[in-house]
Amino acid sequence: MPELPDVENFRRYLERHGLHKKVEGIKVGSAKILKGVSGAELTRKLKGHSLQSTRRYGKHLFAAVDEGHYLGFHFGLTGRFAHFKDGEEDPKHDRLRLDFPRREHFAFVDQRLFGRVEWIDDAEEYIRNKKLGPDALSVDEKTFRERLSAKRGALKAALMDQSLFAGIGNIYSDEILFHAKLHPKTPASALDVKAIKRLHREMWRVLETAVKKGAGAEDLERRLPKGWLLPHRKKGAECPACGGKIATLKVESRTAYFCPTCQKAPEGG
Ligand SMILES: [Zn+2]
Repeated sequence: MPELPDVENFRRYLERHGLHKKVEGIKVGSAKILKGVSGAELTRKLKGHSLQSTRRYGKHLFAAVDEGHYLGFHFGLTGRFAHFKDGEEDPKHDRLRLDFPRREHFAFVDQRLFGRVEWIDDAEEYIRNKKLGPDALSVDEKTFRERLSAKRGALKAALMDQSLFAGIGNIYSDEILFHAKLHPKTPASALDVKAIKRLHREMWRVLETAVKKGAGAEDLERRLPKGWLLPHRKKGAECPACGGKIATLKVESRTAYFCPTCQKAPEGG
């Protein structure tokens, strides 16, 4: 499921291939991905216009359309973008396609159909209404500490709580906790100042590195630095740090992968 680093790379892809090109036509491959707008309405709003700029907030992506309005993208489980030209193979599961001049196309592709494309009047208001916390890549250490220490429950759940920090999901919460050497069930409010500092630093480093290494592309695992958990997210796999066995547990119905040796269980937990 696309998380902050994936969506950041989708944003960069859209910047490279989708901006400042006049939309000459639209093809809706599946109306299910449109939210609050019909295919006909969207065609009317976009035709003759172009996407001007992009903004990412957490796992949400906004593309400004001429002045003031936005196309909003949420990538669900399998959403991504594809830019292609006539003569090149059409991407499978092409759900919304913008046709540009010179036979160029830009598509929102989504096999599982949990992604959404919305017409948004005001991106700021949208973010407020969704009650999203600060973006995980922008939150400073002080705010991070304040928000985390006010949170009840397991650390993994806190990292995934979009109202606390926006952008982190199941995979990157595991990765961050692994590098910070913290157990997924550590109570969020129980961390001392040193541990919070470490967690904040590792959150930033993991997300930045994942962006740089091309999160969102299928060959990400090959490109990650040694010592990352991601290629070892299989029960019984070896921990890349200590060689011990990777274990799993459930946190709010999500499966956490962790190393019981490197990430000690909290006292009494
Ligand atoms: Zn280990």
